[in-house]
Amino acid sequence: MELALGRERKKVVVIGGGVAGSLLAKSLQFLADFTLIDEKEYFEIPWASLRAMVEPSFAERSVINHRDYLTNGQIIASRAINVSDTEVLTATGRLIPYDYLVIATGHADRVPKTKTERLSEFQEENQKIRSANSILIVGGGPTGVELAGEIAVDYPDKKVTLVHTGSRLLEFIGPKAASKTLNWLKSRRVEVILEQSVSLNNISDGSKTYQTSEGGTFEADCHFLCTGKRLGSAWLKETVLENSMDVNGRLMVDENLRVKGRKNIFAIGDITNIPEIKQGYLAQKQALVAAKNLKLLLAGGKESKLATYEPHSVMALVSLGRKHGVAQFPLTTISGRIPGLIKSKDLFVGKTRKQLGLEPHPVHD
Ligand SMILES: Cc1cc2nc3c(=O)[nH]c(=O)nc-3n(C[C@H](O)[C@H](O)[C@H](O)COP(=O)(O)OP(=O)(O)OC[C@H]3O[C@@H](n4cnc5c(N)ncnc54)[C@H](O)[C@@H]3O)c2cc1C
Repeated sequence: MELALGRERKKVVVIGGGVAGSLLAKSLQFLADFTLIDEKEYFEIPWASLRAMVEPSFAERSVINHRDYLTNGQIIASRAINVSDTEVLTATGRLIPYDYLVIATGHADRVPKTKTERLSEFQEENQKIRSANSILIVGGGPTGVELAGEIAVDYPDKKVTLVHTGSRLLEFIGPKAASKTLNWLKSRRVEVILEQSVSLNNISDGSKTYQTSEGGTFEADCHFLCTGKRLGSAWLKETVLENSMDVNGRLMVDENLRVKGRKNIFAIGDITNIPEIKQGYLAQKQALVAAKNLKLLLAGGKESKLATYEPHSVMALVSLGRKHGVAQFPLTTISGRIPGLIKSKDLFVGKTRKQLGLEPHPVHD
């Protein structure tokens, strides 16, 4: 039996190696018998993926093998499909016991398992952009808007059309930010079509005619679907945590970030029902609070000493190409070069790498 400071080493399992799970894993790896379960072998900085589509080499820094920052724990590259009071079951049939569990499965996406495959996917997407004269983007949330911005700036000769079902862009932040974004996109000759959807039922790779819900048709050489990712909680519906989810499929947590009614299961990041905007910098703040609480519990500390997490007010930054952006602060909205300076050049990639204990700009031989 392995011993740490005279105590049996507790088993800590984290499910989901995204923004929150990776940071928590890095903080706790040496303090427990630690396991990270993620469906892929790498952590990908989500907001850097649109830049990687126009500049594939960008992904070499923003797609990070879990092993690069998690030097001490066990890594299982498989989907979690069930959880009991004591164990997690993976899609590959492994049962992983835990004393403490952290669920950080934010959003599930269909992405390849290895970094190499993911990097070639970015090359293919880039090729698709390069070889098209006209590009359709479906979805006017942050992903669609940021992709439109990246293409409009890096490939100004392409005709970009963005179709969105809502009455305005970026519905997760305020209307002022949306109208500033719309004006910026128009100034870059992006055509924005609101309150319409595109039928993708009969679309194959070669077809170029798209139909809108209003019955109109238009031509584009290719399309990108940016309609948002599924919440990564569907797999919890038939587990011991089924009653711990709210109507939106989010895990209900208490002020210490433990799943309601559970003493040894934490949840962090986009999957929680914390009443605040779902953003990575907040997922990271939650990861640090949960890590602190786990450290306390692992050291045999008192429950009354657990740290609490307070929801934050709205703050978000949307990049518009390499130099501009739109920022939503609690009391105001700004657009232009200042938010661009904060986010758009490096997209917080160096910062996120540093938080994981990695070189912001690794030097290759
Ligand atoms: C275009 C865009 C721009 C953004 N810009 C910003 C920004 O500028 N600043 C900011 O703070 N936030 C930004 N965000 C939001 C931010 O990306 C999310 O809030 C953040 O990723 C949430 O982190 P998370 O750890 O909860 O979930 P994720 O980062 O979604 O991680 C979830 C992880 O769990 C894994 N997983 C899912 N299901 C399972 C399963 N069953 N078994 C095993 N593994 C599983 C996934 O593969 C993934 O690795 C942006 C998002 C988008 C889409």
